[in-house]
Amino acid sequence: MSKAPFLTFDINLETFQDNLTAQLNVNREKIQALLAQSDKTYASFIKPFEMMDERLDQFFTPLSHVNSVKNSELSQKVYSDVLPIITEYSTEVSQNLEIYQAFKTINENEYASLNSEQQRIIDLNILHFELSGAHLDEVKKERLKEINLRKSTLTNDFSQNLLDATNAFEYIIMDEADVKGLPQSDIDAAAFEAEGKTAYKFTLQMPSYIAYMTYGPSQEIREALYKAYTTRAPENAVIIDELLSLREEMAGLLGFNNFSEYSLASKMAPNTSAVISFLKELAASSANQATEELAALKAMTPNELMSFDTAYYSEILKKAKYDIDEEEYRPYFEQNSVVEGMFEFLHHLFGISFRPVQEKLWDEKASAYDLYVGDELRSRLYLDLEARQDKRGGAWMHNWQSHCSDEEGKEQLASAFIVCNFPPSSESNPSLLRHDDVVTLFHEMGHALHHMLSTVNENGVSGVNGVEWDAVEFPSQFLENFAYEPQVLRLFAKHHESAEILSDVMIERLVRAKNFQSAMGMLRQLEFALFDFKLHMTHEPDVQQILDNVRLDTSLLTPPSYNKFQNGFAHIFAGGYAAGYYSYKWAEVLSADAFFAIIDQGVFDTQIGKDYLNIVLGRGGSSSMSSLFQELMGRKPETHSLLRLSGIQ
Ligand SMILES: [Zn+2]
Repeated sequence: MSKAPFLTFDINLETFQDNLTAQLNVNREKIQALLAQSDKTYASFIKPFEMMDERLDQFFTPLSHVNSVKNSELSQKVYSDVLPIITEYSTEVSQNLEIYQAFKTINENEYASLNSEQQRIIDLNILHFELSGAHLDEVKKERLKEINLRKSTLTNDFSQNLLDATNAFEYIIMDEADVKGLPQSDIDAAAFEAEGKTAYKFTLQMPSYIAYMTYGPSQEIREALYKAYTTRAPENAVIIDELLSLREEMAGLLGFNNFSEYSLASKMAPNTSAVISFLKELAASSANQATEELAALKAMTPNELMSFDTAYYSEILKKAKYDIDEEEYRPYFEQNSVVEGMFEFLHHLFGISFRPVQEKLWDEKASAYDLYVGDELRSRLYLDLEARQDKRGGAWMHNWQSHCSDEEGKEQLASAFIVCNFPPSSESNPSLLRHDDVVTLFHEMGHALHHMLSTVNENGVSGVNGVEWDAVEFPSQFLENFAYEPQVLRLFAKHHESAEILSDVMIERLVRAKNFQSAMGMLRQLEFALFDFKLHMTHEPDVQQILDNVRLDTSLLTPPSYNKFQNGFAHIFAGGYAAGYYSYKWAEVLSADAFFAIIDQGVFDTQIGKDYLNIVLGRGGSSSMSSLFQELMGRKPETHSLLRLSGIQ
């Protein structure tokens, strides 16, 4: 196969909107022409339809990328101007029932003769259409539309109520003794002048609330904040009831027994009982150690340990037993040597190598690399790692081109961006990372490799495209685990001045700090996941009762009865996690399990490492992750791997 060259990164903000509009009109005409064909086949309809999508992504991605990493008034304006245009187009395509019909026809006529990647494209497209009701009669469609409209009003109200309640509360501290022990930066953030005196204001907004709950010396104030926090937005209770009943009705219209079943239709987890028993198994295995962790915490407290004390005493305990001083570690993690070391590690793990490419990019600190497997060029990686003023915070991977073979059979290679916000380097000062930053870089690299090492020929299921939602974090968490592995760290964790290698003792402290109270943390996450999942399986649920029941298995410390945490659970009532909160743990088990398979074979140059490359990374979204995992390991995922990773006995 001949190869198409990589795109060059080049964007003209002045002409972007006009070019996009023109492109969308070309697409609209092309869709009409594709639909007008009398004999629609995979090659004559689906392939060009899918490639049209790929090219639109390729055109649009540089704009969202630049708006995030090289933000300007112009980029913001262009982005907000074109967002409704592209949204309108996507809605139009996703609601075009003729396209759905075309997929159905090709499914009937040709499915058996297609390869598994092409079959997967058909399966996912039909599923996508049917999960939004394309196959229903007009009456049901109309009702579905009403439900969706009402749902979006309710989720919006839920967030707004929560936001209003969060903003409405403040606690003013007049006595300096009540802020003693807080980090100076938190004290500075809270301080203000009131009647010629310094006073301190704490709120329910995250940094402020967490700071006082973690370091605030006054139990009375901690309780006041905790009570305000856990009783926010009581009016959300009725919203929750209505939302749950609408979700259940919607699932019913689409042919599912309940909303949890509907949620799983597009996920890796096979059925609702598998999710429940998975979560319960983890809870049962964590209970003993969590009880011990809680006992250690109780031993720190003069009186009975209350829910509003746990963060405070945990911090004291952590300082005493596991504290690591980030500044002590930084000199060992100089940015360039971390990146080079990560490449070297990946060479040992997968036999891949990175070669720098000279290319003009959006910022002089950004860089490009070509990725080779052996001598074969496979994809291109862009790194933009340092914080700057015109860059959005956080870290992420963004895929650009996807590996595929185009309409003419030309091979298109994949490309992806990794963006972080590490300390900026200068002529005189190197960029020294925290260990957390190293973990972040490995995490994003895991996502990028999932995209870049694809060998799939259909772009819609190549790399991270088409991967089930509860499996997306598998490759990222998998790679992140290696950032705690002594053999890996020794490759690059060298003091930037003395070249001394990070000692085993210091590495061990990183692992111990990571696993501090891991069983208690595990139970807390399982409580959220079980509550979410059971809630969406129950007809006319009594929300509080379901929560109380879940807590019998997950909660060692009964929260005060005024605690109505559910009214603030935005992940599932205002975000995309409804009947999906379990996904965090689900993907962690896959990643821990595959990680130990490699560790147990000696980390470098293992057969299982190569298998992982070919099966999990190579095949991307072209098969369900459950079958890829089965093929890799010869068995189903085992939850005890996650317990082992978390240091739970
Ligand atoms: Zn991630």
